Amino acid sequence: MEKNLSVLNTLTIMLIFNCGQSYVKEIIKYKTDYLCIMNLNPVVYSIPIYFLLIGIELLIQKFSNKRLYRLNDAITNISCGVTQQLTGTFLKIFGIGIYQFIYENYSFFKIESNIYTILLLFILVDFMYYWAHRMSHEINLFWGSHVVHHQSEEYNFSVALRQSSFQTIWTSFFYLPLALFGFNTLDFALLAALTTIYQFWIHTETITRLGWLEYVFNTPSHHRVHHGRDPKYIDKNHAGVFIIWDMVFGTYQREEEKPTYGITKPVNSWNPVWANFEHYQFMLIEMKTMKFTDQVKYIFSKPGWLPDSMGGIRKVQPVNKNAFQKYDTSSMRSVNFYVLFQYALAMVATALFLFNKSQFTLNESAFVTGMIIITIVNCGALFEGKNWVMMAESIRIILFSGISLYFSFVNSWDMLLLIGGIAYLVISSMWLYFAGLPKQSVHA
Ligand SMILES: [Zn+2]
Ligand SMILES: [Zn+2]
Repeated sequence: MEKNLSVLNTLTIMLIFNCGQSYVKEIIKYKTDYLCIMNLNPVVYSIPIYFLLIGIELLIQKFSNKRLYRLNDAITNISCGVTQQLTGTFLKIFGIGIYQFIYENYSFFKIESNIYTILLLFILVDFMYYWAHRMSHEINLFWGSHVVHHQSEEYNFSVALRQSSFQTIWTSFFYLPLALFGFNTLDFALLAALTTIYQFWIHTETITRLGWLEYVFNTPSHHRVHHGRDPKYIDKNHAGVFIIWDMVFGTYQREEEKPTYGITKPVNSWNPVWANFEHYQFMLIEMKTMKFTDQVKYIFSKPGWLPDSMGGIRKVQPVNKNAFQKYDTSSMRSVNFYVLFQYALAMVATALFLFNKSQFTLNESAFVTGMIIITIVNCGALFEGKNWVMMAESIRIILFSGISLYFSFVNSWDMLLLIGGIAYLVISSMWLYFAGLPKQSVHA
């Protein structure tokens, strides 16, 4: 068994590096012009690798009898990633647009792109990432979006996909000094994407410690600490690629006992949209009774800061590992299979949209984004057994079939859309009916 596991571990690591190489080559092919930069998203091109690695981890789960995944949690993690990629279309101005504007109009120099300047830029991007990430933990306003990445109480490759939709609004400004110093936008965009892609493989419990690499690179062991909600692990190991930044700036923590994953104020929901707003709603409630100066301080202080009149800084309580219960809901197998069917269709639609995004107008993009987000929100609600979900899902099925039939009509009765719409209506409504009403059973 152990041998099987180490073979799978080696296979995982080999795959990561081989696929990494070929994808970087693939990405470089797109190095043409600015228009291309706006449509370029190497993170999207890496999606097949992500799913391959999730598959390997599921195999490890099967062979080792370790419980690495829960369906509802993993689906919600992926849903947060889907939501982020879809809404990212509309926030690209933050990620790349402002950078390009500064680079073009205000840069002190224009640095020529060669192997040395690219290496230097890679290190600088990672350095800026460290500070952007650290501030995302130390400023309440920023934490409100980054918190999404930390909400899962599991630790597996699907957690890497669990990203906030709004974080880029706050963090993109940290990279602007690089534009001022004249590092061109394309190199910046590629290397920033590379630091994101790098961080996928560190979200796993199946790789233990990696010898000397632990002193230089961010590894699964270091990043498990970062996802821990135990007092000693909170706000530690903010690194992207190089763990050196944490060691230099005093935020390094070695992995000792197994972390308890998640956050101190669990979100207790499988809704990927709510996951993005929950902390902001909590902030608004807490701020209601504060005076204006305290409100400003609250927004920019560390999460947990409260004025003395409200009891002062909230202390992080140690986790009672024996009594700790992860948020969970139980849904019938028939409901799970129905969700998987709808989810698979939503994933195909997402992939087709993301790979062909440049062909859609902004309005069309907003329309597709809305349809996919409604689907994945309903999937989460089916797991939770919300009392409104049968109604919402029925309306959604009728609406989607109607849209398909409408487009069939305006395209002189296109047969594919006509048959597709009718088949979707019949299969989905029958399946939903026979899957049965989800019963709500929650423990948190
Ligand atoms: Zn973090
Ligand atoms: Zn992470």
